[in-house]
Amino acid sequence: MTPSLYRVADFLAQARELDAADPLAAFRDRFVIPDERLVYLDGNSLGRLPTSTRERLHRAIDEWGADLIRGWDRWITLAREVGDVLATGVLEAAPGEVVLSDSTSVNLYKLADAACAARPGRRVIVTDDDNFPTDRYILQGLAEARGLELRVVKTDIDLGVSVESVREALDEDVALVSLSHVAYRSGAVADMAAVTAAAHAVGALTLWDLSHSAGAVRVPLRSAGVDLATGCTYKHLNAGPGAPAFLFVRAGLQRELRQPIWGWFGQREQFDMGAAYDPVETLDRFQVGTPPVLGAYAALEGARLTAEAGIGAVAEKGAALGAYAIEVCDAWLAPYGFALASPRSGTRRGGHVTLHHPRAWQFSQALRAAGVVPDFRTPDRLRLGFGTLYTRFADVYAGLACLRDIAASGSHREFPEQHARVT
Ligand SMILES: *Cc1c(COP(=O)(O)O)cnc(C)c1O
Repeated sequence: MTPSLYRVADFLAQARELDAADPLAAFRDRFVIPDERLVYLDGNSLGRLPTSTRERLHRAIDEWGADLIRGWDRWITLAREVGDVLATGVLEAAPGEVVLSDSTSVNLYKLADAACAARPGRRVIVTDDDNFPTDRYILQGLAEARGLELRVVKTDIDLGVSVESVREALDEDVALVSLSHVAYRSGAVADMAAVTAAAHAVGALTLWDLSHSAGAVRVPLRSAGVDLATGCTYKHLNAGPGAPAFLFVRAGLQRELRQPIWGWFGQREQFDMGAAYDPVETLDRFQVGTPPVLGAYAALEGARLTAEAGIGAVAEKGAALGAYAIEVCDAWLAPYGFALASPRSGTRRGGHVTLHHPRAWQFSQALRAAGVVPDFRTPDRLRLGFGTLYTRFADVYAGLACLRDIAASGSHREFPEQHARVT
C-alpha cells in the first residue's frame, strides 16, 4: 500500500468511526433525502426538508381549505409560539423575547432604526466591512436617511471581526453597533459578550445578525446582555426557501423602543381598528402585518427539531465535522493550492468551513456536476456548509475525495471562469 492510499483508507475509517459514535446520527432519518448519492454541503444557505415539515404543511393547507378564516383563531399566535421555541431551545433567551417576523433584512431595518431613535443626539452606527451585504446596505440607507455616520470597522475576511477593532471605533457618539455573530464567508464567530460589553460601556446598543448562528452554534443572548438580534430560519433551522425570519428584543428594552413600521399587528386591541397607532408594550410591537402562516409552520417544525437535538450537541457535532474537514483538506488539498479561509479553532468557527483557491468558482461548478453541492463566495472562496442534523462525516469524506480527484485531474478547468447570477 502506498502512503497516500493508506491515508485515504485512514480518513474513510475515521469518518465511519465518527458516524458510528455520533449521538445525533438518527436525526438524518427525520429529513426527506430523495437522492442518497447527492453530497449536500450547502445547508448553511438552504437547509434540507424535515419530514415533519412536509406533513405539517400538508395539514396546514388542508386546515386552510376546511377552516377558512376560522383558522386565524389558531394562526394568530403562531409567530410568538415559534419565537418561544427559538428562545428556549435554540437561542439562549427567554419566552416573550423572540418572535417570527418579516425577513432578516426588514428586521435589521426595524431594529436598527428603533435603536437609533432610542439614542437621540448620537450620530454614529458602527459595523464592519465583512458584514453580510444586506446588513451593510440597510445600515447605509438608514444612516443616510437619518443623517448619521456609518463607521465601518476593517475586518480580516478569514479570521472575523476583532473586539479590539470594534473598541477603537467606539465613543460616546455611537448609538448602535451592528455585526454578524458568525461571518457568512469564513464562519468566524465574533466575541458577542466582549463586543456587547464594550458597546454598553459607551452607552450604545447592540444588534446582532444570527443568520449563520441560529441552529449551528450557541448564541448566548442572555449572558452576553445582547439588546437586539435577528436571523434567518431557512439556513441551519431548515424552515425552507423564503421562510420568515425571527427577531429578538431584550425584555427590559421592549417598552422603550419604537420601530418605524407602524403596522396593525403591533397595535393594542388590534381588532378595535382604532384611529391612531398605539403599540402594545410587549414584543408584539415589533410585528408589522399578517404573518406568512405556511412559512411559520415550517419554522416551527425546524426550530423544534433543533431544540429536540439540543443546541449544545448540535454545536459540538458542527465543530467536529469542521475539524475533520480541515484535517482532510490539509492532507489532500493543500498540495493543490487550497488554503483554509476559516479560523482553525473549533470554538472560533461556526457551522461551515471555507477554502481559498484562485479557481474556487470553477471547482464549485465541477463539484456540482459530480453530485457534490458546496457554494462559492467572492473572492475565490469555496464554502462547505454542514447541516449538523443530517450531514455525516462520510459525506464530508465523499465531498472532499471528489474535490481532490477534480484537482488531481484538472477537470475543473473545463468549466467557465465567468460567474453565474446565483453562486
Ligand atoms: C442569509 C443572510 C441574510 C439574508 O437576509 P434575507 O433578508 O433573508 O434575504 C442576512 N444576513 C446574513 C448574515 C445572512 O447570512
